[in-house]
Amino acid sequence: MILERVNIVLRLFKRYIKKQVPAVLVNFLFLGIQVYIQTFLILREMKTILDQGVAAGNMDLIVKSCVKMASFTVLAILCTAVTSYMSARAVAGFVEEVREDCIRKIFSLSPQDMLRFGSSSLVTRIMSDTRQVQLLLINLCRSSMMAFFVVISMLILIFMISPGLGTVVLAAVSAAAVFMTNRGLRVQQTFGHIEKLTDRMNLLFREKLVGTRTIRAFRNETLEEEKMAAANAELFKAYIEVNKPTNFLTPITLVIMNWAVIAVYLIGAVQLQHSLVSMSDLLLIFNYIAYFITALTVVPVLANLFPKVGVASSRIMELLDTVPTRETGTEAAGITEGGIEFRDVTFGYSGTEQVLSQISFCAEAGKTTAIIGATGSGKTTLMNLLQGLYQLTNGDILIDGVSIRRMDPAYLRRNISYAPQKLQVFQDTLRANITAFSDSISEDRIRRALQASNCDEVVNRKPQKLDFQVAQNGLNLTGGQKQRLSLARAFAKEAPIYVFDDALSALDARTEQTVRSGMRTMLASRTVLLVSQKISTVHDADRIVVLDNGRVVGIGTHESLLKTCCEYQEIYRIQCYSEEAHSEKE
Ligand code: ADP
Repeated sequence: MILERVNIVLRLFKRYIKKQVPAVLVNFLFLGIQVYIQTFLILREMKTILDQGVAAGNMDLIVKSCVKMASFTVLAILCTAVTSYMSARAVAGFVEEVREDCIRKIFSLSPQDMLRFGSSSLVTRIMSDTRQVQLLLINLCRSSMMAFFVVISMLILIFMISPGLGTVVLAAVSAAAVFMTNRGLRVQQTFGHIEKLTDRMNLLFREKLVGTRTIRAFRNETLEEEKMAAANAELFKAYIEVNKPTNFLTPITLVIMNWAVIAVYLIGAVQLQHSLVSMSDLLLIFNYIAYFITALTVVPVLANLFPKVGVASSRIMELLDTVPTRETGTEAAGITEGGIEFRDVTFGYSGTEQVLSQISFCAEAGKTTAIIGATGSGKTTLMNLLQGLYQLTNGDILIDGVSIRRMDPAYLRRNISYAPQKLQVFQDTLRANITAFSDSISEDRIRRALQASNCDEVVNRKPQKLDFQVAQNGLNLTGGQKQRLSLARAFAKEAPIYVFDDALSALDARTEQTVRSGMRTMLASRTVLLVSQKISTVHDADRIVVLDNGRVVGIGTHESLLKTCCEYQEIYRIQCYSEEAHSEKE
């Protein structure tokens, strides 16, 4: 398990460190120079002052050495500035690349894969997990590497002065290292739990943010606050738990090192008596140990961080290594007229339940095919399958005779213009919302799309016209305006196939008529799939497919279905009745 985690961290580092190698190397070079100045040069001057200056009363030499020490300090500060800049650059570049790849991967996943991860977990992986990696890298590039250089150079220096004292210090460092590793491994076991709780916390928080209005309307604030507080308390407890193994890390490490100092005092005193070391050497060794102890204080931080990064890296790599479950073909040709054939299409979101069973029908090129059925009958699922968002369980969908399984998904979607049931507006201008940020759509096409979707009324009411800024989530537009904007976007895109997935449902009867006539003129030679629950939307389509519980129960025109399809008759009866009742009331 531990080796596996180390392996994953190394894999992550290997994959993304390549571009940062020059900055990391410059960083290490200047760190090395800094340590050399601080330990060798400055302390050497100190020894000169003690041995040759103080002992011989040579004031000139003392002043000269002091000036040298001051200059070395300035150099060391300059080195620190370089290492700070280089390490920040390398780490920011590393994390930026990881995040970009994660986002790219998320875009390539099928909705099924997304469901498996959960959107809140994806957010934690991109933000919180990469942040753990960032913290470790900063620590490695600066304090940890510095500590490493200091420890190595100090050990060499102490051994050079007195092998006996060197052995004492080495034993103390080894004991501290074993203790730290042991504590670090324990953090590893508990940190995975924390990240799962953070995922959950994100999920709850998002749910509350999106549902604020509903929560307020039903006066559920207290209940929701309690739920959040419970999740927060669990996370709090988990954090306390995860930090327990490292609570005594710094104090115990310091105790070990201070015992080493006492041992050095005792052994040093004996060696001094026997003239095995000089007084200045002993002072130097105490100075080294002081450096040592300062350097070692970063190690507990590292011991705490490394296990967390083990967990975070495996979560990041799990995402990056995911192979999208959707079949992705490579063909980027074949769609010409846009004739669609659904051939025995069978599909279920989970293995057990089938949402669509043996759906077979054709949507002729250049004609409007409507799909009608009650909520939950599988209309949206069928449209998602057409766009290659899910993998078919059985059967096939062919466009102009070519299976969509063989097509490159980007090519497939380029050839379908889609107006979804769930409105999606972007925080940008009306123009950007209509063109979906594409600059290849002509002004004339935008104008015609606005007319066809009855969205010109929305644009004309705004003083800035197409440059009007849509607020976040379209808060400065009404539901109907957003719907028309979404329709205008679908009209504006040039494609052989147009899918309107219940996209006319929020329109009043008059606007709906305008949009339908807009479809007839602007999309006259295109294949249109018109999904709806309302007979008034579909009755004049060239062909109507009736779906019931994931099965096709009728295909024909409005007139023929009224004679032959009992499900269609039932929908018609209920809708006529409610319309009559409505007009009577008025
Ligand atoms: P319609 O568009 O006709 O209202 P849908 O295609 O949205 O119907 O839904 C058909 C069935 O599939 C419903 O029972 C719905 O609960 C289920 N369903 C839809 N989306 C998902 C999903 N992402 N995961 C699991 N089940 C789903």
